[in-house]
Amino acid sequence: MSTDTPGSQSSLHRANLERVLRAVRMAGSLTQAEIARGTGLSAATVSNIVRELKESGTVVVADTSSGGRRARSVSLSGDAGIVVGVDFGHTHLRVAVGNLAHRVLAEESEPLDVDVSAQQGFDRAERMVERLLGQAGFPADKVIGVGLGVPGPIDQETGALGSTAILPGWTGVTPGQELAGRLGMPVHVDNDANLGALGELVWGAGRGLGDLAYIKVASGVGSGLVINGQIYRGPGGTAGEIGHITLDEAGPVCRCGNRGCLETFVGSRYLLNLLNANHPGELTLGRVVQLAQQGDLGCRRVIADAGRQIGMGVATLCNLLNPRRVILGGDLAEAGELVLSPIRDSVARYAIPSAARQLSVVPGTLGGRAEVLGALALVMSEMSETGVL
Ligand SMILES: [Zn+2]
Repeated sequence: MSTDTPGSQSSLHRANLERVLRAVRMAGSLTQAEIARGTGLSAATVSNIVRELKESGTVVVADTSSGGRRARSVSLSGDAGIVVGVDFGHTHLRVAVGNLAHRVLAEESEPLDVDVSAQQGFDRAERMVERLLGQAGFPADKVIGVGLGVPGPIDQETGALGSTAILPGWTGVTPGQELAGRLGMPVHVDNDANLGALGELVWGAGRGLGDLAYIKVASGVGSGLVINGQIYRGPGGTAGEIGHITLDEAGPVCRCGNRGCLETFVGSRYLLNLLNANHPGELTLGRVVQLAQQGDLGCRRVIADAGRQIGMGVATLCNLLNPRRVILGGDLAEAGELVLSPIRDSVARYAIPSAARQLSVVPGTLGGRAEVLGALALVMSEMSETGVL
């Protein structure tokens, strides 16, 4: 750590160095001109800093072309540090190991009923992290940090799950502490929708954007909000709980205790209930999407209606935050235009026209990997530069 007084020449240099490193780390690779634009530093300063970082082996520089002109792309060295992502969904556990140059080195997913017991889930996660680090060929002491996603809001002050109604088997568990204690590594924790937003921002359909909302529709409905390039969480971690916007105050009782929340109309349990009577056999949301794509009229109708209702939530979000892009993730996103088109119709109908005009509604490009890749990006975003320098 630097002990220089603020404002001195060397502390300014150090701050510039950190800005360059952070910009490169979040983008994967950038040309020197892009670094200058993104950090506001002069081309000469960027050039000096890149040379210094290259000599110390922190970054690698390769020839590339940008707009037809020769340019030099800068990325972090592959052995600058290892990051781990752990994503608990309601029905799966996914783990990835990557490096700071944005390469995923090992990744695995297993089915898991997360609601049953937190301890069982953490046992499995611990073993998977150890196995994948072995596969990637890195010892535990190369790990800079672990990003952990859980399917519920995380209180930003205590690190506890904000609502035990959503994950009854996790009552009294502080997920970040639990995993950090087991692995002996620093753990950063966030809810799955925020990580999906971060994943799509850094690796997927939101690259290069500063303002977006990621909406995940699966068992529940959640959203992650990116404002000015940062995840907006709110003090209790519940910002973006779009699934609990009231659509009908006399509607079905929601797991949050309220009635007629958006989630009670579009969460998988509710959609499957609508179809159970005339679709025998075990139905999943994935199967409903498949049947809809094969022309099943009931499934198409249920998906279209869900899209219209999601669109009402998106319209509210659009009026409040004016995002540039809404990215749909989760199982329902696999339905493509069958769900996207009714969402757009509802936005056109219910949002302020000027906010709706600027908005594009697109599917995520990462599918079920969005959250675990977001967990890797969370470590990259929260880590201090001392881990690298
Ligand atoms: Zn609710």
